[in-house]
Amino acid sequence: MDSKEFREAANATIDDIITYFENLGDRNVVSTVEPGYLRKLLPSEAPQTGETWATIHRDMEGQIMPGITHWNHPGFHAFFPCATSYPSLLGELYSAALSGAYFNWICSPAVTELETIVLDWLARALGLPQCFLATGPTRGGGVIQGSASEAILTAMVAARDKYLRETLAVEAVAGEAEEVKEEREMRKRSKMVALATTLTHSSAKKAALILGCRFRAIPVRAEDGYALTREGLVDALAKCKADGLEPFFLAATLGTTDVCSVDDFAGISAALEEDGDKNGGIPRPGEPGEVWVHVDAAYAGAALVCEEVQRATRIELVERFHSFDMNMHKWLLVNFDASCFFVRDRSWLVQALSVNQAVYGNTASDGGLVTDYREWQIPLGRRFRSLKIWFVMRSYGIQGLQAYIRRTIALGEDFATALAKRSDLFEIVAGPKFALTVFRLADPKGETSLEERNALTRALYDRANATGKIWLTSTQLDGRFAIRLMTAVRTTEKEHIEAAVQTLTEVAEGVLKEARN
Ligand code: PLP
Repeated sequence: MDSKEFREAANATIDDIITYFENLGDRNVVSTVEPGYLRKLLPSEAPQTGETWATIHRDMEGQIMPGITHWNHPGFHAFFPCATSYPSLLGELYSAALSGAYFNWICSPAVTELETIVLDWLARALGLPQCFLATGPTRGGGVIQGSASEAILTAMVAARDKYLRETLAVEAVAGEAEEVKEEREMRKRSKMVALATTLTHSSAKKAALILGCRFRAIPVRAEDGYALTREGLVDALAKCKADGLEPFFLAATLGTTDVCSVDDFAGISAALEEDGDKNGGIPRPGEPGEVWVHVDAAYAGAALVCEEVQRATRIELVERFHSFDMNMHKWLLVNFDASCFFVRDRSWLVQALSVNQAVYGNTASDGGLVTDYREWQIPLGRRFRSLKIWFVMRSYGIQGLQAYIRRTIALGEDFATALAKRSDLFEIVAGPKFALTVFRLADPKGETSLEERNALTRALYDRANATGKIWLTSTQLDGRFAIRLMTAVRTTEKEHIEAAVQTLTEVAEGVLKEARN
């Protein structure tokens, strides 16, 4: 493809994308193809000679689009959103064109420096304490990771390294042979345990799995709003101690996937500072071997752009913790991937992840003058992701981002209000919170068993999804099957929520009528 052909193809592609967004609501939300559909359509080998763009372009609509589920469809209420916006797409276009691997500052100084600057912008916009700024007092800072899963793994690696370094130094024996020290370290590693809750995203468990360390999930209860409490954490820490385990990491969540609950930051902090042996006598915050607390705000962290959310979540308390992560690509108009990961002290990452290889040496890095983000992440190479963040933050401005978040939270409240008016049909199990409502089929007269009610709610869920107009996901809470409806997609408007309520009402009436007959 030469420049002339590229210009024509690119213009046509941009037109296609605009038409796609303008007519998105006319499509089925979820793809209806059968598994393996594409193998039947594509040849088994790549073409020997190049094809024209016209041929390739035709197959995009004919062969690929049928297998696409539309995450930016106004009827997409499943999981959490996966954002995009025109400024973000433009950022991707430049990034793809410049295409580099940007692991060191010298690989493109603008890429590293823009990332440091926009993540400071973001930290300020989210109301994060100063310690998470690159320009803050504790030499903290932010780095863009591919996903929240990658961020929690990175945090856990750094936490493990910090814990081992600090505790082994405290326990060091003068004149100890290297092999003895290694043995001591290996024994300690086998005792280390990462903690989370039963509602923490599975990425915490996966990180522990990858690291090969123990993992314990602390139960959370409906009566506590599914949040980790001081008492819950104190008990879990004491139990670790009783079992001879050493807790080194805790994942706290701001906005759990199932119900958007927020762990009690003040309670967590108090549990870690507990006097005496109540919490197993773990090292207190600031002491060698303290528990590293990572805040996973993958989805709901976006809402912190609104001051009222900063106040309600007491976000200033995360100053007591070690790392924080949120995905702009979920709810802040930047397309996948843009997981923004902040640490209170960047040397924790560098100490854990800095592995030198002669080929990557250069004067700027060797002089210690610059940030080389390869030392803040697991992979070596990295994309130019800050550009799309920069474009989005400048195009919308903080007020534009706030307006979007507030509008979508209000849609969630409208939805829950409409459900509450039909308490004969629906029971709200959790929310509305951060544009998420969790509900099930009602049983006002207490006539159905848990199993029957679960089966009826599942029928409602299956039939509502089968309409193709909306897509919902489900969860299980204390054995109760429940439906999640999220209203945070950029294209979703009031009329779409009204349509969703109408669909759910009609389907619920049908399900209940059949059940009574
Ligand atoms: N944490 C929470 C609270 C989530 O809801 C999710 C996914 O929705 C994740 C982590 C994992 O996100 P990612 O796909 O960026 O790894």
